[in-house]
Amino acid sequence: MDKTVSPRFIPEELIVERSVHQTELVQRVLSRFSRVPVRFVDNAEEIWLQAQKSSSRDTWKGKVLLARQRGPFLRLCPGTQKHICCMYHNLDVAAGCDMDCSYCILQGYLHSSLVTWYCNTDDLYTQVDAELIKYSERFYRIGTGELSDSLTFDPCTGLATDLVSFFRDKRNAILELKSKNIHVEDLLSLDHGGRTVVSWSMNASVLRRSEESAAPDIDARLDAAVRVQDAGYWLGFHFDPMIDYPDWEQGYREVVERIFSRIRGEQIAWISLGALRYPAAMDELIRRNHPKSSIVLGELLPGIDHKFRYFKPIRIEMFRRMYGWIRNFSDAPVVYLCMESDEVWRKAFGWSPGSSARLKVLLDDRVREAPK
Ligand code: SF4
Repeated sequence: MDKTVSPRFIPEELIVERSVHQTELVQRVLSRFSRVPVRFVDNAEEIWLQAQKSSSRDTWKGKVLLARQRGPFLRLCPGTQKHICCMYHNLDVAAGCDMDCSYCILQGYLHSSLVTWYCNTDDLYTQVDAELIKYSERFYRIGTGELSDSLTFDPCTGLATDLVSFFRDKRNAILELKSKNIHVEDLLSLDHGGRTVVSWSMNASVLRRSEESAAPDIDARLDAAVRVQDAGYWLGFHFDPMIDYPDWEQGYREVVERIFSRIRGEQIAWISLGALRYPAAMDELIRRNHPKSSIVLGELLPGIDHKFRYFKPIRIEMFRRMYGWIRNFSDAPVVYLCMESDEVWRKAFGWSPGSSARLKVLLDDRVREAPK
């Protein structure tokens, strides 16, 4: 398949919870997919329960539930005990993804391929506004890429585009759209006010082919990043999860070189690094759902958070080399580690923010103003 053109997701069935039927988002989706079968349900929870119990993930492939978000849309990332955390806020606008990466943590949370789009967006805007006004002295980095991919469904819902406009005038917040996909067309002409970071998850090309095979290739992601750069947005890159394989040095160094051959360091807000990690229970799921994947064969040991991680010296060496390659090109982006200890920071980078609060300040300060 030509990976420079990412196929757009087309739902096979839309399941609409009646209480959100009249919302703008549902009406927009129904008009964009007028030929897709629609089923109405009184309570989305019955569908979530059925999906949880289903014996095969494929039963729910292509099905989308348009539901009401019952909990808060905005959540502080829980972080991990004894690790330095960036104090990020997640905005849960969707759950599920169509790209099915072998290491995806959603396999453990969602148990099926059912995708949910939360459609009571009036509540979303009200909640975010209330939080930003109540704590006007705080700065918020807010992202939609925790339980889904931020751009993969945008041609269906237009929600990422709506959010860029919503955040345009926020003085104490910035939106991050984190993706492996390339659906940026609708972002390019928006007045974004420098209040959105569009970021891509990156990996070595060989791993893209083996572990992220349904996602656009690395050059296609970079093509999209160049278009977004030209539109004046902040950019970000996330090497997470980094995976230990025999040629990792060459594979990751090449991607860093490709990024800086096309993207200005001054316009990159941040680059995060994180090594493969997952809860013990996911080991079996990965083996079952992705039998050709070799990621579970690495030197992974349970950590203090009960997640499997690479042996510490392996992680430190990967981060140390990446930091050096990035800094050879630019000192401008904040380079940070996701869920690592002060010790790992110091050994890998030669310095550490020392605390989550200090890392938060570094990241916040980077994006308080629009990119130059
Ligand atoms: S793109 Fe992200 S959310 Fe989607 S399957 Fe891959 S890791 Fe999961």
